[in-house]
Amino acid sequence: MKIAVAKGDGIGPEIMDAVLGIFKAADVPLEYEFVDMGKWVFDKGFSNGMTPEAQQTIESLGFLFKGPMETPKGKGVKSINVTARKTWNTYANKRVFRTLHGVDTVFSKAGIPIDITIVRENIEDTYGGIEHMLTHDVALSRRFITRPGSEQVIRYAFEMALKKEAKRITCGHKANIMKLTDGLFLEVFYEVAKEYPSLKADDVIVDDLCMKLVTRPDVFDVVVLTNLQGDIVSDLCAGLVGGLGFAPSANIGDHICIFEAVHGTAPDITGKNIANPTALLLSGITMLRHLGLMESAVTIENALLYTLETGVHTGDFGDKNIPSVNTTQFSDAIIANFGKVPQLNARHALPNKPITPTVFNLKHNPMLESVEAHADTIVGVDFFVASNEQPNAVAEKMLLHTGDLFKLVTISNRGTQVWPKGSIFTNLINQYRCRCESIGDAPLTQTDILELYKKVMGSFKVCSLELLNMWDGKKGYSLAQGQ
Ligand code: NAD
Repeated sequence: MKIAVAKGDGIGPEIMDAVLGIFKAADVPLEYEFVDMGKWVFDKGFSNGMTPEAQQTIESLGFLFKGPMETPKGKGVKSINVTARKTWNTYANKRVFRTLHGVDTVFSKAGIPIDITIVRENIEDTYGGIEHMLTHDVALSRRFITRPGSEQVIRYAFEMALKKEAKRITCGHKANIMKLTDGLFLEVFYEVAKEYPSLKADDVIVDDLCMKLVTRPDVFDVVVLTNLQGDIVSDLCAGLVGGLGFAPSANIGDHICIFEAVHGTAPDITGKNIANPTALLLSGITMLRHLGLMESAVTIENALLYTLETGVHTGDFGDKNIPSVNTTQFSDAIIANFGKVPQLNARHALPNKPITPTVFNLKHNPMLESVEAHADTIVGVDFFVASNEQPNAVAEKMLLHTGDLFKLVTISNRGTQVWPKGSIFTNLINQYRCRCESIGDAPLTQTDILELYKKVMGSFKVCSLELLNMWDGKKGYSLAQGQ
């Protein structure tokens, strides 16, 4: 079996060489095709951070094992790490956080075991990076949460939970505030849960989840979250087990999977041969399991756990009374411990069951769409207009334009209603949202909206607009705070 390998920048080549050295010593039956990705590829003028040959190789092999990569600052280019995850639709980011014997934390000292798997949605949310300045004072980020995108990652999380014989699967969310976006994610979670009756499925609001994770991490098993919340919560979990140096990461898609460490390129220690390769090695072990190379995965993981238990450590962790070793000595110690079994969390031998890599010959970009057709009707429009006037003055101007078709329902500022009712204590910024709905909820056309737009722009600069849709009789938009 052949996989693509990108060594990465900074400490990337040092830790990748250490990990591939361990794989070689364990006779891992893999071949590697090294591909060009990272900072130096950006510097050569490839604006997405990879050469066309690298893209072609990764797309034909389907598996990428990568070291950390640097995104050049101030050049307006997007992170290669995020580009790779999004381009190849690796929709589920799986990160496993387990107590490691020899890596002291407050929980290990208190005898509280941790074994949490975070599944983070990897494509959507604010990570679309779709941002605009609407006025000099107002920046807008669009947060997309989609039904098919949520379903892909949530279904993956349930399948994975079933395989690992998890007892509980929890959805972390903020649906109490973001009723439509997080509300959709939560709705899909419970829809999918019905197909997995053997798993206890529940949900926790994300702030409460953070509090509970740092007080009782042992009660959680698999947790699935949207992208940004998942990003934050997974780093919090990394802290529970000793930091990013012990946090593997797998980005799973239907066609391409990427395995990487979550830490960065560590420029401060680059070239010194002192970096800790554990996170990349754990990511590599996750990859071996994914590829069905169970025997090698077990041998290497047990040797790593045994090595950590015996107190061998690089300079960034471990008992300061025991001298640290460098990257090469650390990987040599792991190789010397092949066949040894750790006291805690020993993995049991399993036979290899190599997967057969699928050859994908896609002719079109896959379109993800809900199967059911839904009737939608336009019943209004939200205009986001620039103005530094008081709410009543904005309303007076808007009311000049609403005519026979529309009524002005509410005006809000930063989401808080300021007209027809509001509070004098609400601070304003120089942009209002003016909601115009059709009289008697009559269906509107896009031309009706355009005609109103033409009139409104006579009084204001319209920064943006959003249609108000009804889906099967349900409002497809939220109310203003205080409306
Ligand atoms: P960083 O993770 O590189 O470093 C933070 C601190 O952790 C540093 O003190 C570093 O020495 C230490 N550290 C990190 N990995 C270590 C290891 N394996 N062993 C020992 N110590 C380690 O974070 P940063 O400094 O914020 O970012 C540096 C660069 O990495 C940036 O260009 C950033 O864009 C990039 N980055 C890449 C990825 C990725 O490829 N997935 C992730 C994060 C950051």
